[in-house]
Amino acid sequence: MRIADALAAGRELGVDRLDTQLLLAHRLGRSRAWLLAHDEDLLSRATATAFSADLARRAAGVPFAYLVGEREFHGLTLRVTPDVLVPRPDTEVLVDWALELLPPGAPARVADLGTGSGAIALAVKNARPQASLTASDRSAEALAVAADNAARLGLDIEFVHGEWWSPLAGRRFDLVLSNPPYIAGADPHLAALQHEPRGALTPEGDGLDALRRIVAGAAPHLEAGAWLLLEHGYDQAEAVQALLVGAGFSQVSTRRDLGGQPRCTGGRR
Ligand code: GLN
Repeated sequence: MRIADALAAGRELGVDRLDTQLLLAHRLGRSRAWLLAHDEDLLSRATATAFSADLARRAAGVPFAYLVGEREFHGLTLRVTPDVLVPRPDTEVLVDWALELLPPGAPARVADLGTGSGAIALAVKNARPQASLTASDRSAEALAVAADNAARLGLDIEFVHGEWWSPLAGRRFDLVLSNPPYIAGADPHLAALQHEPRGALTPEGDGLDALRRIVAGAAPHLEAGAWLLLEHGYDQAEAVQALLVGAGFSQVSTRRDLGGQPRCTGGRR
């Protein structure tokens, strides 16, 4: 099979043209520019077979990041597997807010609850090496992916196993961040996200359970003046603000994501 035929096969399956090109470039270990300049070259049978499988999976909705095994987040290349949510650009807003609150050089203690691939904790540690980062997840499989990312990137993070605050008994932080599951259990968007771990996307019910639990348990884990910053759904800002105000937080405010949706809400203890 020629490269040109392989790219045509993507078209026939309805796979996005750029995805098709990048998937084949990844298989060949070449750049996209190389690929387009060599479209008469023949693929080995093994590459052609593997690429056909990639195309079929992409056409079935498997995220591109799972097929190539990595995703860029806040300037870092992270390994991702189906055990973790694919990091979203929207979550960079949470990281940027955290970095504004962390003066460079300050030895702050920062926690990331439900770290998944480790994206948030790793991005903060990368930008603020003096901070000490603790990242939790209830999924041992996710923690293994996050620990592998930390090792590859040479970033020192403490990983703890357990849900929300439970592995952090008796510990206090200067800043706590979380992108918990927040999609409502009956939200039709979940159908399009079926290849990602459901438990990382939705706490079921109205989508607010994880956010409620994080806010409710926060006080004993935050130093006076510490901030808690939470990612949430586009229609949950008011509810999360009410949770934070109700739990006694001050300076409660919301920031928008790159698409202009209210996406992160934080408050100060
Ligand atoms: N932002 C993700 C999405 O809507 C959901 C992530 C989450 O639930 N934390 O695809």
